[in-house]
Amino acid sequence: MSTQETRTRIVWDYAPAPESPEHVRLRDSYGLFIDGDFRAPLDGTMVPSINPASEETLAEVAFAGEEDLRRAVDAARAAQPGWAALSGLERGKYLFRIARLIQERARELAIVESMDGGKPIRESRDVDVPLAAAHFFHYAGWADKLSYGVAGRDVAPHGVAAQIVPWNFPLLMAAWKLAPALACGNTAVLKPAETTPLTALFLAEICQEAELPPGVVQVVPGDGSAGAALVRQPGIDKVAFTGSTGVGKDIQAALAGRGIPLTLELGGKSANVIFEDAALDQAVEGIVNGIFFNQGHVCCAGSRLLIQESVADVVIGKLWERMGRLRVGDPLDKNTDVGAINSREQLTRIQELVSAGEEEGAVRRSVACELPERGWWFAPTIFTEVAPAHRIAVEEIFGPVVSVLTFRTQAEAIQKANNSAYGLAAGIWTDKGAKAFEVASALQAGVVWQNTYNHFDPTAAFGGYKESGFGREGGPAGLRAYLKVS
Ligand code: NAD
Repeated sequence: MSTQETRTRIVWDYAPAPESPEHVRLRDSYGLFIDGDFRAPLDGTMVPSINPASEETLAEVAFAGEEDLRRAVDAARAAQPGWAALSGLERGKYLFRIARLIQERARELAIVESMDGGKPIRESRDVDVPLAAAHFFHYAGWADKLSYGVAGRDVAPHGVAAQIVPWNFPLLMAAWKLAPALACGNTAVLKPAETTPLTALFLAEICQEAELPPGVVQVVPGDGSAGAALVRQPGIDKVAFTGSTGVGKDIQAALAGRGIPLTLELGGKSANVIFEDAALDQAVEGIVNGIFFNQGHVCCAGSRLLIQESVADVVIGKLWERMGRLRVGDPLDKNTDVGAINSREQLTRIQELVSAGEEEGAVRRSVACELPERGWWFAPTIFTEVAPAHRIAVEEIFGPVVSVLTFRTQAEAIQKANNSAYGLAAGIWTDKGAKAFEVASALQAGVVWQNTYNHFDPTAAFGGYKESGFGREGGPAGLRAYLKVS
């Protein structure tokens, strides 16, 4: 018998480690946050916000109607001159206060984010909430230095910013949008996504606690029709949208000829490129983080995995083994790696694209794991034998599904990585610095990570090329979107 066979196999058992929702101050119902207070809708409706892990209602939330949106924009208009007239230093103090209050309520915000959206508490606690605070801190620091952010030129705010965010990072996307807009002297009307309005409403409470002047921030939940009505409001001066490419195009059409500046942060089908000289175990961790983080509900997810042919079998073997150890289930359990799919609709979309992958001839393997009976779930899945024309190699799946393609040479890697209508992000795994820089400069992607993936920082610009949108959020580049520069 060899030594290996006699060695005792260690089996790690996990005891449940659930975070308790008990101290969360969740109200039964939320009005629209307009002009500094929560208000009953004028012509909107009350809609339940559902926990995707249990299908239970968390709270009733007001969805804005046309009248409500008009009222929200009017409030933002009325408050804007006063807000812009404050010194940058004073505006910065409010932003600092909001950042500190996010930190104070961090645990509560993380729990609500996980209950409303389905993401693991480990992620909302360690990524979403701290980064949301960091964005407010970062732009608090810029508020009195705006002209330095744009090479010493004269700057002025646009006025009222209409901001629409998706459901995958509800609090973080709200912070990405509100912090720079406010720092620059704009007021804002923020529309959260229909399935995840709660942390934006918590942020509205935080604005109240920070004694932000009424009207500077409005939070008006609603569905797509509310978003469409918001961008058509006559009183807005700027639109910032994060969401799907299809809706982005619709918004662009709605704004045509109105002279309203627009930033679009849209979808992606990002390439994660593994060269044969990479540290492969480290790369496998990066692949897992690239595609299974937030159940793959990530605009920049590394959903197209490009592996150099010489190491493809080894990497796929290691990845499959690693996938088998992912813990799928209760988002509030601190051991959970992959939580619930955000909505029934999104689950249907993932299932549809996965079926298309099988029908087109790719080879599917899904991890065998026990999925909870209630709620919406999808097991981590890998597709091999994928052809570049397959739908699963072209379309955004927005779920825990990775499509593997291979390449032989650096030139082929670049060609395949760029073979996409999108251009949001990419990852490069190699131990050769020169190769990483050479490949990065040839990739049509707004963000390129080297030997890491899904790494975000408020000081760094984020945004896309091609159908992934235009404009940048984060860092000094993020100020440009909210300033008239002369
Ligand atoms: P979505 O486009 O369906 O919805 C996004 C937001 O737009 C929601 O608030 C929705 O209510 C609203 N909306 C829907 N129809 C509208 C319309 N006609 N006019 C105005 N607003 C409308 O996207 P989603 O499913 O919520 O989010 C997933 C998408 O978002 C993915 O494509 C993802 O890649 C993208 N995303 C991009 C980034 C980025 O920074 N590039 C970040 C996160 C998500």
